Amino acid sequence: MKKRVLILGSTGSIGRSALTVVRQLSERLEVVGLAAGRQLDELRAQADEFRPRAVGLHSPPAGNAWRQGFPAKTRIYHGAVGLSELVAETEAEMVLVAIVGTAGLGPSLAAIRTGKSLALASKEVLVMAGEIVMAEARARKIAILPVDSEHNAVFQCLGEAPAAHLRRIVLTASGGPFRTWDARRIETATVEDALDHPTWKMGKKITIDSATLFNKALEMIEAHWLFSAPFSAIDVVVHPQSIVHSLVEFVDGSQLAQLSQSDMCLPIQYAFTYPERLPSPVRFLDLATVGRLSFEEPDHERFPALRLARRAGEAGGTAPCVLNAANEVAVAAFLERRIPFPAIARCVEAAIEAHKPVEARDLEVLQRVDQEARIAAVEWIRKKGYP
Ligand code: NDP
Repeated sequence: MKKRVLILGSTGSIGRSALTVVRQLSERLEVVGLAAGRQLDELRAQADEFRPRAVGLHSPPAGNAWRQGFPAKTRIYHGAVGLSELVAETEAEMVLVAIVGTAGLGPSLAAIRTGKSLALASKEVLVMAGEIVMAEARARKIAILPVDSEHNAVFQCLGEAPAAHLRRIVLTASGGPFRTWDARRIETATVEDALDHPTWKMGKKITIDSATLFNKALEMIEAHWLFSAPFSAIDVVVHPQSIVHSLVEFVDGSQLAQLSQSDMCLPIQYAFTYPERLPSPVRFLDLATVGRLSFEEPDHERFPALRLARRAGEAGGTAPCVLNAANEVAVAAFLERRIPFPAIARCVEAAIEAHKPVEARDLEVLQRVDQEARIAAVEWIRKKGYP
């Protein structure tokens, strides 16, 4: 029987790669639901090709005319609540959550609560609400399969190793487009410079996060929740070629790494077919052609994000939620050309400094803290005199 999958964020970079994987493995995988933010035409075209039972659009145009043009009998959902309903009401074995930002939280919880395993790309979900999501998944014995290439690599390297064997997780970072820029030049970075990622083609939010290294900051917190690792056992090394996707170090000194071409189809497929490995559309890796793999320490002066992640992570409770919310606001402001690039980290730091963390076991508390942090970040931007 085919594995039935729901793909949330199907019009985005991860969503499209997921559909490439499904095309390749059409004998094994069936798309039963698709959801997007606002790209209606692309969602219609995808529904036409994959014939899902249900589709969802977060922000449809006004009126009801947009509901036309989907195959007959397709159930249609809209809005944030609609997306969670789509997940809960559609029979499926697995839900891929690949929505930008914390909008993926509701659908992720809906998947867990209705017994569907989660292929999780949206790292912001665990950064905001890792304690709640992991506790619900554990209580219902629901698997969370990491799609982020670094966590997928760690997951592959860990295998069945007992927790006591693990000494350290080492996440690799490409270093982004400003790896070799000095601090003064980084002050002048434009949106185009920041979107020009050297090794990965991704959505805008994560591409800016890669330039600030907040992507790695979010990934440290994501790794903490996924692998129950303390922050003292999570390190980052810069690896500009993006061939080694991460490593684990065991107590005996052995390190295992996962290497492959930088292509998100691989971790997506691994999550879809786990524990099986099947041929994939990804090109094979020829190390002799790559020639050289290099590694360097991250520079915490030019890129304060990792330091801020460690601080928020070790403070615990609602602190990571604040880091994430302020970062989302600051990235949006940078993309709208309202604040300069280095102001992203300054805005996040100010939000963390102003926040007194409390326990993060209650969704309502998290939602309130998330909103307050967003307002504080907007206020910081205004007070600094930015438009
Ligand atoms: P994109 O911006 O390319 O795509 C985002 C997708 O989410 C689109 O389909 C968009 O729909 C949809 N979307 C946006 N807002 C909402 C909403 N409120 N409700 C429902 N759908 C919404 O992002 P990426 O694919 O790059 O990233 C998605 C997630 O995966 C992020 O959390 C990112 O950090 C993570 N990730 C991405 C990687 C990558 O290589 N791209 C690697 C690892 C993790 P529409 O376009 O129709 O508006």
